[in-house]
Amino acid sequence: MNDKASFCEVIRRDDGPAINEETFKDDLTRHFYYTLGRDKVGTSRSYLYQALVLSIRDQLIGRWRASRDDHRSQSHRQVAYMSLEFLMGRSLNNAMLNLDLEDRVREALEQYCCELEEVEAAEHDAGLGNGGLGRLAACFMDSCASLGLPVTGYGIRYEYGMFNQSIDNGHQIEQPDNWLREDYPWEIKAPDDCRRIKFFGRVEVYEDKNGRQHHQWVDTRDVLAVPYDIPVPGFRNNIVNTLRLWKSEATDEFNLSEFNAGSYSEAVAQKNLAEQITMVLYPNDSSENGKELRLRQQYFLSSATLQDILVQWVERYGEDFTYFSELHVFQLNDTHPSIAVAELMRLLMDEYGMSWQPAWNITTATMAYTNHTLLPEALEKWPVWLFAKLLPRLLEIIYEINARFLQQVAMKWPGDVDKQAAMSIIEEGDVPQVRMAHLAIVGSFSVNGVAELHTRLLREGLFNHFDQLWPEKFNNKTNGVTPRRWLHHCNPILTQLISEKIGTEWVSDFSKINQLAPFHADEKFQQQWQAAKFKNKQRLALLVKEATGVEFDPAMLFDVQVKRIHEYKRQLLNILHVIHRYERIRLGDTDNMVPRCVLIGGKAAPGYFMAKTIIKLISNVAATINADAAVKPYLRVVFFPNYNVTAMEKICPGTDLSEQISTAGKEASGTGNMKFMMNGGLTIGTLDGANVEMLEAVGQENFFLFGARIEQLDDIFSDYSPNQTIASDPELKEVLRLIESGHFNLFEPGIFQPIIDAIRSPTDPWLTAYDFASYIEAQQRVDQVYLDQSQWTSMSILNTAASGPFSSDRTIREYSENIWNL
Ligand SMILES: *Cc1c(COP(=O)(O)O)cnc(C)c1O
Repeated sequence: MNDKASFCEVIRRDDGPAINEETFKDDLTRHFYYTLGRDKVGTSRSYLYQALVLSIRDQLIGRWRASRDDHRSQSHRQVAYMSLEFLMGRSLNNAMLNLDLEDRVREALEQYCCELEEVEAAEHDAGLGNGGLGRLAACFMDSCASLGLPVTGYGIRYEYGMFNQSIDNGHQIEQPDNWLREDYPWEIKAPDDCRRIKFFGRVEVYEDKNGRQHHQWVDTRDVLAVPYDIPVPGFRNNIVNTLRLWKSEATDEFNLSEFNAGSYSEAVAQKNLAEQITMVLYPNDSSENGKELRLRQQYFLSSATLQDILVQWVERYGEDFTYFSELHVFQLNDTHPSIAVAELMRLLMDEYGMSWQPAWNITTATMAYTNHTLLPEALEKWPVWLFAKLLPRLLEIIYEINARFLQQVAMKWPGDVDKQAAMSIIEEGDVPQVRMAHLAIVGSFSVNGVAELHTRLLREGLFNHFDQLWPEKFNNKTNGVTPRRWLHHCNPILTQLISEKIGTEWVSDFSKINQLAPFHADEKFQQQWQAAKFKNKQRLALLVKEATGVEFDPAMLFDVQVKRIHEYKRQLLNILHVIHRYERIRLGDTDNMVPRCVLIGGKAAPGYFMAKTIIKLISNVAATINADAAVKPYLRVVFFPNYNVTAMEKICPGTDLSEQISTAGKEASGTGNMKFMMNGGLTIGTLDGANVEMLEAVGQENFFLFGARIEQLDDIFSDYSPNQTIASDPELKEVLRLIESGHFNLFEPGIFQPIIDAIRSPTDPWLTAYDFASYIEAQQRVDQVYLDQSQWTSMSILNTAASGPFSSDRTIREYSENIWNL
């Protein structure tokens, strides 16, 4: 060991679990006074929050380094989880929970006369994701660290995350999310590990003295990728994993001609272009096509990450990659980083002199792809011309991968040119396109869907040809959510009750939650369970009041649908039911009607006109209903603005009824559904995504099932006639009449016409009119059961008790055992 290394050993702090209370108080003061240069707390809690994070980070550093050394030195396989999105939310409470620090933090804060909750509220959400896919990556980070698995998250450090949503006269307004304005004290910049990323330029071919051809990507315009590391502590296990986020920066090279011409400031201004790459998250859930900057982001992340790992490899083992694939896996979160397949080939061949076949063997033994959607419009494609301009060397490699792949197809199905065209990585046409999903499948050893139904539909439909060629590649990994954040942290009242009943082991081994089941009919336990739900409903009612001004009464049933606004998720069906109820109330038909508070929330992609119109409809219906004093005892409705992770932490514990009502076959899995289930929410839902497995786990009698099934869809679409459906259903007819009469848009004529047209269209892919009657009937059953509070509570307990399989710990164990082989 050289002197430098031993010096590092000496200054390393104790990485054991013991945290000295006095040191912690001193750390807090030191950071507040010296690091941040403050002497008064003032009204803003921001500095105190930062000092607190820095003190906690100090406690993490030793364990963090130990975990990293462990990953790097030991000869076990490690995983790079590559994702364009990580929807982390807040980290302070999660870190305190996982390190068991809460009591010490509260004590240390006493000297500042400040409650922990106030300081927590000063943390901005890290909103580097759109919805389910990004939140899944965040839950996976927590589970990997808690299971002690050597997994590093790799993503992009967007300067601006998911936009903040406000509602103005029922319209969505998007505001920039400047989450880094007050610094993000969790991150540590690691400029030593910065990587160089190439764009544009051209390819030169030359022969070496042995006559072998080499390709050189030259005349490129390069940008730097600078990593920022965020610690990911495991649950009380002394493990700290890393989330590494890349920021783009300009190289220090100037455009010499401009510089020499005296245009110094113009030359410097050019640098801004490089920094644009990681400026903003694309705010589109499940579809974004053709935007050049987005492709740049994807390549930037892929190249920086692969270089990071290859450089570390070469430092340790030199340029011998014989055992590389035994020690590394790259998990691709959707096709977004799938250009990594071609980039790994390029790096191994052009930078490390490998020939095609060994490089391909390594690539196809290390890449694994997770598919997240069946919606055809969401399958990523990039125009070939864009590739040729931006990433010319990568396009060459993709062509070569495709040529070799199509030979395999031709061997399997001789003469079947249709199959070749259908499976090709290149889609021919007026504007030829690169199909990223095909590149991902061809280049990966594992392709997984995210729920049983979704995986089955992938294999039978979208990717059927590939399944016939390589059945061994396909597997299912049903999604999950972390029970630390989505039960323990977000629902302390229920957590305490559960732990009193069955102990605390469920927090780290969530399969133990089923020990609650025997108590579902216990009268005393039911009362305690109801009391906990009631308190959480009070807490949610406060939030709703703050956000919208509308009073929610915790004695009423809380009916909630929060998720991205999308036609396939059918917020529209939900609001049709609300209007139907409103009608009944106005007609005096309220016998046995359960009073309800309906909350709908979620962001619409800024360019998605229908989704924005649906927000407007919900808002207008809410305004009409809430203004009607006669309706108030039975029905209240809000559109909840700026739905995000922190909001969900208050929403899911206070929910009675969870709306999971997507058109069958459209929702890959869903994860919101699982959060509600853990917190004792009952689900009204279709047989779609993970709902299918939730229903199996809890039993049909504890789930409000409705709607068309996947097997019926072909039949239904073959002669779908919504106008007939509407004409023959007086309730649906009346609901549509009310909307069409302009009742909800008296001074805004015509604005809901696109919605009416969509429902009445024989090609409506979302089957809103078709499923209406069945949905209303299921909502009737909801009311009936809710009138019997004992039965409802028993079902609620059974739902929490059956939620064990929906822990992301279970999901990650399956990835680890069946894909990663850790
Ligand atoms: C869990 C979660 C989602 C995913 O919700 P789905 O109902 O599965 O679409 C989206 N956004 C946030 C903030 C979440 O916490």
